[in-house]
Amino acid sequence: MGSMKKIVIANWKMNPQTLVEAKDLFRVSTGAIVCPPFIYLEELLKIKSAVILGAQDIALSDEPGQTGEVSGGMLRQLGVKYVIIGHSDRRWKLGELDEIVNKKLKTALVHELIPIVCIGEKSRDSNFQSFLQNQVLATFAGLTAEQVEKCLVAYEPVWAISTTPGANPDTPESALESIRIIQSVLSSKFQVLNSKFLYGGSVTSSNVSDFLVKDKISGVLVGVASTNKEEFKKIIDIVSNV
Ligand code: PEP
Repeated sequence: MGSMKKIVIANWKMNPQTLVEAKDLFRVSTGAIVCPPFIYLEELLKIKSAVILGAQDIALSDEPGQTGEVSGGMLRQLGVKYVIIGHSDRRWKLGELDEIVNKKLKTALVHELIPIVCIGEKSRDSNFQSFLQNQVLATFAGLTAEQVEKCLVAYEPVWAISTTPGANPDTPESALESIRIIQSVLSSKFQVLNSKFLYGGSVTSSNVSDFLVKDKISGVLVGVASTNKEEFKKIIDIVSNV
């Protein structure tokens, strides 16, 4: 991770369209953890650089009858270190239920991949606190404290994700309020006190430092802005100096 004190994770989602562009983007991502589409992982792993690779998803078990899926063993064997679990694109656009997210999380841990676990409410309404509590309980169900401690926990309110219509970034203060809710469930139900929390949702070079000056926010998960070379380079430069 170079000398960066805070963590930057790039979720390229289903971008870019070609391997040439993927390699180009990868080269400016020094010090970040980059999660490209599966199809680019192998080629990017051949490039010598200070970028660590993560996958955007994982099969829910090692049972081979899962057409279209990629197993934890395959990812691990390739040299992938991280995996995003429970991203809101999958939860809300593809109907991935908490039980599936929970199985994927357990599979990632079996294969010693570091899970980047996404948690976030769909709307900031009067029920958002209990929504977050329930999602944390269901996502981490059955895990030991030691297993939960291995996870990076990304607070990603769905309404703040840039591809959600009408999205706006959360404010650092309100993100911290949610992180405290998540933390209190992790400590009361799983006896975990020292989780690392990230914020994700419309992070750009203009707002990244507002989040990272907060001690409790250990890093950022960046979607669309991580697929723009100039913008992501700016973000990395800012994070290196926080
Ligand atoms: C994401 O996809 O995890 C994300 C945070 O997206 P964006 O930065 O585009 O809001």
